[in-house]
Amino acid sequence: MCHDHHATTDDASHTLGRRTLLRGVSGLVLGGGLVAATATPAAAAVSQNGWSAGSSVPPTQLAVGAAEFAPGVRSGNVHTILGYVAGRFNSEVETLVRGWCWGYAYRPISGSTIYSNHASGTAIDCNAPDHPLGVANTFTAAQVASIRAILAACDGVIRWGGHYSGRKDDMHFEINVGPGSAVVPVLAAKLGGAAPPPPPPSGSGWPVVRRGNSGYRVTTIQRLLRQHGCTLTVDGDYGPATESAVGAFQASRGLASDGIVGANTWVALVVTVRQGSQGEAVRGAQSALNAKGSSLTADGVFGSGTHDAVTVFQQARGLAADGIVGDKTWSALVV
Ligand SMILES: [Zn+2]
Repeated sequence: MCHDHHATTDDASHTLGRRTLLRGVSGLVLGGGLVAATATPAAAAVSQNGWSAGSSVPPTQLAVGAAEFAPGVRSGNVHTILGYVAGRFNSEVETLVRGWCWGYAYRPISGSTIYSNHASGTAIDCNAPDHPLGVANTFTAAQVASIRAILAACDGVIRWGGHYSGRKDDMHFEINVGPGSAVVPVLAAKLGGAAPPPPPPSGSGWPVVRRGNSGYRVTTIQRLLRQHGCTLTVDGDYGPATESAVGAFQASRGLASDGIVGANTWVALVVTVRQGSQGEAVRGAQSALNAKGSSLTADGVFGSGTHDAVTVFQQARGLAADGIVGDKTWSALVV
């Protein structure tokens, strides 16, 4: 028997827009024949993991970083544990994005008595649009390692949808034991009240970027080179022109002129920017923030919108939320 909580027809609930499903518990018929509910939920209804589902679950708000797992999750020990998972996910795996994270949803599976664990408020979805149901390997190897570390800290209480034997559900984390399990209160007591561990120290983690690379880190390097007076096109591709500009910049700073941007070159390249700053370094910071989930216009003007985005990013990463992009924030932006 397959224990994966998302049975085949449950696909529709993730692809059809969960907001609709959250609206009510009676008579909601969705496309593809999925019937969310037909009447007042039976008092005895339980979700797949054995926890009571439906109206017996008043969800409690769960806010982590910039995100809220609307409309919340089950209160008590489950809230503590899922909050711990979300907190570490936010600081160690990927910044949670507001509007992309989901909690309780009363969702029975059509033609079955099995309810999704979301229906008992014992499951969360993290950054759903980036990790859609049915798509495997939406995280990097490093991110998967971080997820495994979180799972290990939860003593088997949490199962990750990326570990499903069948269809993967990378966004999804759920309580994997029943309500009578003694492990749940023990784990909650262990985690309770404890803030998520701090992220790895920023500043030790500068990526190595070199010829052949592309993407926002390259764009950021090109912007910073322009900030320092180098003339080159900003195209996000680390080609020969970027390589030679990096080499020239390194030589000007007394660094080994290898054309590769490692820690020493990053430290020399980054420029502290703050509200009121203007120019290419600000553009670089704005495009890096956008790559991390902000939606700024990369206009090179550090206004209040950029300040707010920096503050949100810093809070999510456990950095001092001063709205100033200095070494540590730059490092967190490009790592
Ligand atoms: Zn889910």
